[in-house]
Amino acid sequence: MAAAAMCYHSRPPVEPGLIMTSQAVSAQPNLFDRLKEIVGPAGYREGDDIEPKNFQDLMEDRAIRPPLLLRPASTEEVSAILALCHDAGQPVAPQGGMTGLVSGAAPLANEICLSLERMNKVVELDPYTSTITVEAGVPLQVIQERVDEQGLLFPLDLGARGSCTIGGNLSTNAGGNRVIRYGMTRDLTVGLEAVLADGTVIDNLHKLRKNNTGYDIKQLFIGSEGTLGVITRAVLKLFPRPASQAVAMCGLPSFRQVADLLVHAQARLGANLSAFEVLWRNTYQLVDAHVPHASAPLPNNHAFYVLVESMGSDEATDSDLFLDMLDEANRKGLIEDVVVADSPAKIKKLWTVRDAAAEIAPGVGYLHTYDVSLNVADMSYFGDEVERRLRQRWPDAILGLFGHIGDGNLHIVINVGPETRALHLRIDEVIYGLIQELKGSVSAEHGIGIMKRPFLPYSRGGNEIALMRNLKQNMDPRGILNPGRIFT
Ligand code: ZN
Repeated sequence: MAAAAMCYHSRPPVEPGLIMTSQAVSAQPNLFDRLKEIVGPAGYREGDDIEPKNFQDLMEDRAIRPPLLLRPASTEEVSAILALCHDAGQPVAPQGGMTGLVSGAAPLANEICLSLERMNKVVELDPYTSTITVEAGVPLQVIQERVDEQGLLFPLDLGARGSCTIGGNLSTNAGGNRVIRYGMTRDLTVGLEAVLADGTVIDNLHKLRKNNTGYDIKQLFIGSEGTLGVITRAVLKLFPRPASQAVAMCGLPSFRQVADLLVHAQARLGANLSAFEVLWRNTYQLVDAHVPHASAPLPNNHAFYVLVESMGSDEATDSDLFLDMLDEANRKGLIEDVVVADSPAKIKKLWTVRDAAAEIAPGVGYLHTYDVSLNVADMSYFGDEVERRLRQRWPDAILGLFGHIGDGNLHIVINVGPETRALHLRIDEVIYGLIQELKGSVSAEHGIGIMKRPFLPYSRGGNEIALMRNLKQNMDPRGILNPGRIFT
């Protein structure tokens, strides 16, 4: 997510006409000279040398070339930069891999960008505490591969793994495919170092799993989308690399069976249950029709498709446990059809079908993407009702529902015709209005950024938002850190 679970591997080129250049280019020349001095010649870019990847996220909601891109190489440099910006009232957009989906990290008109991309060192891997200490700019996939070499697992995983960075994952509290077993980024973090708006370094970078000494300060920075501080380093939790992996895709006749299969799999697989991903028929059919590299393993007329995965520590018994679970589900009448992957290549093929749910757009056209949370008990109604309300206004709407149903997290992709992008606020009203009625969350794992800002009150109460504003005012009194994100 956020560094998000949507699977985008390449970035489409930006049409030159869409790039605006900020008018603040020469507004504060002395400040900019002093900032450039802090980072040295390798640590900044200006003007046309700044590439679109540094000022546009995957949502492409805006592309404003900033007057200055800073690329510090150390926490000390980040601290010095923010101290100067704080004094000058210069707003800053902190950046990771720019794979977010809510327009949180793309700069606004008078902002400079602060990319952590040069802070990309793995500091330490400690097998005795099962932790890895990394700088914020390390790509997620680098962490995954580094710990895998040691027979360990860092379980955070999402489609953007190759380009998102751990700093972005932390600042958005990224989720992904294995939250059901290992939790979100928040749950995978032991310690943190962050720099406040005025340059103060908060050193919470420890490896202690148990540490009840007052407030858990790291959680303020995780998921606050760069508005309360800039995360510079983190200590992350590692797990033993599972010895077994088993994956099946099931066809089911109704959501009732999906919910019952989830309870059944949780009860029978226990901690081995590592993914429970669901595609509504509309998504499965779109994948079947529009994503050539994903070959549908089951007929496309089931109402729901579940990818269920088990990971454990004993290959022989885990496989039996998994097959027994499916067998029993079949006897209970929960599943109509099932295909079990019996080799790594077939496992990959089934995951390709799931991941393809986020790759429908090239075949269909622009799809506006939603990421919401709901109680599992409300999901069936939500799926039917959202389609009914959309079709009232746009009878030919194309929509697909899918998601991490084991976590109550649903993604929806929608195209209502050529005007989809322009109409998205009207579509938002339909989706988020229903979410509000069902007391769900307008953002499960992507964050709020700017795009979901009008809908924050749909999911959070007035007192909660007032407390958030208080924290922001206290930690960033001059409002220089990612201003206007989450709330104004
Ligand atoms: Zn996701």
